[in-house]
Amino acid sequence: MPYHNWFQCTRGCGRRYSIYDVVYRCEDCGGLLDVEHDLEALKERSADEWRALFDQRTRSVEWPYGSGVWGKKEWVCPQIALANVVSLGEGNTALLRVERLGREIGLPDLWVKQCGTSHTGSFKDLGMTVLVSVVKQMIADGKPIRAVACASTGDTSAALAAYCAAAGIPAIVFLPRGKVSTAQLVQPIAHGALVLALDTDFDGCMRIVQQVTADRTIYLANSMNSLRIEGQKTVGIEIVQQLGWEVPDWIIIPAGNLGNVSALGRGLLMMKELGLIDRLPRIACAQAANANPLYLSYLTGFREYRPVSAQKTLASAIQIGAPVSYERAVKVLRAFAGVVEQASEDELADAAARADRAGLYCCPQTGVALAALFKLVKKGEILPEHRVVVISTAHGLKFTGFKVGYHERTLADVVARHANPPLELPANVGAVKEAIDRALRTRMIGE
Ligand SMILES: *Cc1c(COP(=O)(O)O)cnc(C)c1O
Ligand SMILES: [Zn+2]
Repeated sequence: MPYHNWFQCTRGCGRRYSIYDVVYRCEDCGGLLDVEHDLEALKERSADEWRALFDQRTRSVEWPYGSGVWGKKEWVCPQIALANVVSLGEGNTALLRVERLGREIGLPDLWVKQCGTSHTGSFKDLGMTVLVSVVKQMIADGKPIRAVACASTGDTSAALAAYCAAAGIPAIVFLPRGKVSTAQLVQPIAHGALVLALDTDFDGCMRIVQQVTADRTIYLANSMNSLRIEGQKTVGIEIVQQLGWEVPDWIIIPAGNLGNVSALGRGLLMMKELGLIDRLPRIACAQAANANPLYLSYLTGFREYRPVSAQKTLASAIQIGAPVSYERAVKVLRAFAGVVEQASEDELADAAARADRAGLYCCPQTGVALAALFKLVKKGEILPEHRVVVISTAHGLKFTGFKVGYHERTLADVVARHANPPLELPANVGAVKEAIDRALRTRMIGE
């Protein structure tokens, strides 16, 4: 196998480590580690050859290459033995043309990347397949790893628990008590993980898991560990592939810990470096106004940065005040002429509801991205002729409480203009017919 990757310090020192070392920060300078690849070896195949290989694998029945992540194994994690790959069919999610919503906002070329239609219902599967596979390889090689642990706003722990369950590796998840959805809480429970619900927020859980994983027999699965970013970087590659290898003008992504936007940027930059694309899209990061450290920093041209104390937001998966990958994200935003936008609770709920009425079924984080899109269109930053892709990060079915609360008009700070509660009627055909006529006459439905 000619291809090779390794961890490399992101600060000046550049020290390298094996991806099979239990290390999350540089031992010399404390910098974060990124995974780097032997690009010279990858360049020995032409861009056309890579495109053809990736296209062919997309229809492959040869396990695990049908996975959107492992179909790009050489770019993601080349040296791992196939026997240690833990895949649950992640990636290759639909890229939807959302014609009706696009028309409503004057953007005929609008697309949504459905990362939530995945095994555990969020994009976190893309990264977790890589991390858990590497751990399985390490255990096979005799490394003394007892368990894998993460702090989570819900979706990371669901993914970690599922992949560890598939591999037979113990998982420990740290969740902020009362701050994740019922579905997100029950997923790791069902997969047999050790679930620790702590009386704190995500940032508090993160501090504790970092101390716990100072014991190197408990492996840290947070996105500080860039193995996850390697899997997640396939999302940008997949989007371009699904557009017939054409680069969109904009990609909009909801952002919390800032791992996913860093991943998106890495995948696209790798494509450019290897000649598969010759230009880059612009990237818009979308934050909840209640947890907006990146947005505040953006307003200063990234000259200043201060973690914030994240306030409660319906977009609970991005309720993060001290994002681990801030520096990575700023690099990406600079390279992609990026912008950052924020959305209030009302804006994110309204955007999700409007999209639902046009046939999507959006999680609140996707609502944040759509609200940012609406604002950027209104400001004239995104133009009618632009091709725009919004990344939908989780499945709406994971956030039933959000949907029910919206349509029952019980969400704090949300007006719920599109609430559509069921009509309660007697079992009487006259009353039913009258209600149907009234609904169709007032165009209460279908609008
Ligand atoms: C994790 C997550 C995000 C945020 O991704 P980051 O890498 O933390 O920025 C957004 N939406 C959903 C649904 C998530 O689970
Ligand atoms: Zn270093």
